[in-house]
Amino acid sequence: MIILKSTIELNNWFIENLNGFVENVGFVPTMGALHMGHASLIEKASKECQIVVVSILVNPTQFNEKADLLSYPRTLENDIIVAEKAGGTILFTPSPKDIYGGTPYAEPVDYGPITSTFEGFSRQGHFDGVVAVVDKLFLAVKPNRAYFGSKDLQQIAVVERMSNERHPNIKIVSCELIRDENGLALSSRNIRLSYAGIILAQNISQELKTVAERVKDGVDMIDSVEIAKKKLKNLEGLELEYISGVNCKTFSISPENRGWSHIIVAARVEGVRLIDNIEL
Ligand code: AMP
Repeated sequence: MIILKSTIELNNWFIENLNGFVENVGFVPTMGALHMGHASLIEKASKECQIVVVSILVNPTQFNEKADLLSYPRTLENDIIVAEKAGGTILFTPSPKDIYGGTPYAEPVDYGPITSTFEGFSRQGHFDGVVAVVDKLFLAVKPNRAYFGSKDLQQIAVVERMSNERHPNIKIVSCELIRDENGLALSSRNIRLSYAGIILAQNISQELKTVAERVKDGVDMIDSVEIAKKKLKNLEGLELEYISGVNCKTFSISPENRGWSHIIVAARVEGVRLIDNIEL
């Protein structure tokens, strides 16, 4: 795998190696601390594309809490191994200053409910930063296809909207959410959980699974989510931010079940913010 540390190095590599031929370039943007969730995106991209660019950039503009940015895990040596094994061709590791062309800055973005509800509401400014960095990374990498995990379900809706407007030729590929053997959604932030924290956090995915099963058995969706909400709220050490049914395309808040496709949840355990979702 080739490691390129700046947009200039990336541009030069493409000019020198592709000689103007249009290749099928796949792109997997990440913030590093790669795990099997990231690897699954890279593997999918490597099956569908001739060249797979994996980027690692801890993007400052999408963090609404300074402490979260400072404590975000950075594990480059291991990331190189994971990305290479999964089939990455290029590991692109630009600095924020390089990708933003100066001091990192994100324009406010208003896509209606998809940027203002749930993650957009809980993490003010978060999606402004996501849109800014993905837009700039797309300009630098110029991929044909870009791969995003459905763990960040709302992010996919935001990226699709941004890409439709600004990069209509890039295909956004939504990939499966990967869990550990106990059901916990894999996340770079899980490294910060103690063993007890991991056990507590497993309740999140267990409750999602139970909601989906109850709905399948004919229990009303709203009632089913309410039961899960009560259960999670009563767990000591777990701070529930939200659990709700949503339509993954609109993310509009409706107290009624209007075309819910997923149940989404956000909670904190040991100060670590965790999100998860399940398809209905
Ligand atoms: P991050 O490094 O957290 O910004 O994530 C980079 C990409 O990996 C995003 O598209 C995420 O949705 C995706 N991703 C993170 N965790 C998982 C997971 N457990 N399963 C599938 N995709 C994931």
